[in-house]
Amino acid sequence: MTLDVAWAVDWVRRSAQAVAEHRDELVELDRQIGDGDHGENLNRGFTAVVAKLDALEETPAEIGDVLKLVATTLMSTVGGAAGPLYGTAFLRAAKATAVPELDTKGVVALLEAALEGIVVRGKARTGEKTMVDAWTPASEAAAAASDAGASPAQALEAAAQAAADGAQATIPLVATKGRASYLGERSAGHLDPGARSTELILQAAAQAAA
Ligand code: ADP
Ligand code: MG
Ligand code: MG
Repeated sequence: MTLDVAWAVDWVRRSAQAVAEHRDELVELDRQIGDGDHGENLNRGFTAVVAKLDALEETPAEIGDVLKLVATTLMSTVGGAAGPLYGTAFLRAAKATAVPELDTKGVVALLEAALEGIVVRGKARTGEKTMVDAWTPASEAAAAASDAGASPAQALEAAAQAAADGAQATIPLVATKGRASYLGERSAGHLDPGARSTELILQAAAQAAA
């Protein structure tokens, strides 16, 4: 079994829907340890992405074409920390997926490239209470699933579950990167908004593959 361009388009549309549905929740999470704009920022970005998808005259040939459209649109519309971070993630993921179909190893390559883009851009390691704390276990879980012979859909399901666990695990952490780090110890006890949005986006990827 492989994932095709239609999966990538469905992933992006489901991500946009999830971000819209959870916009207020993401705003509230960011209000607690940041400036309260994460849900707004991402919703603006993914709404623009969907508008660009709707305007396409034909379906792109490669998965990377879809992810590149996401990257450039998020970079130009989201702003703040998350725009460049997600933009770089999708740009790296696009470069790793210049193919019409992905097998399980391709899914792992996509996730690893996205994580690498975030780390290159934001310089955060795990444990700093950022989206890296969701992307890292997600990428590792997909790799482990791949080694165990999982299908692409199963690898994405494992990644989404690991991202959810990783996001929950940011609650007790003290932020040392991004806006939340200004709060120091007071950032502990709150879920990181970027880790939560990562969970939603990877859940969308798994649902599109199911
Ligand atoms: P801003 O903080 O500029 O308002 P957002 O609210 O859209 O941007 O995004 C905040 C999220 O960005 C945080 O919850 C965190 O997950 C993520 N983030 C911030 N700085 C970094 C970084 N250096 N590396 C990785 N992720 C980061
Ligand atoms: Mg913010
Ligand atoms: Mg902001």
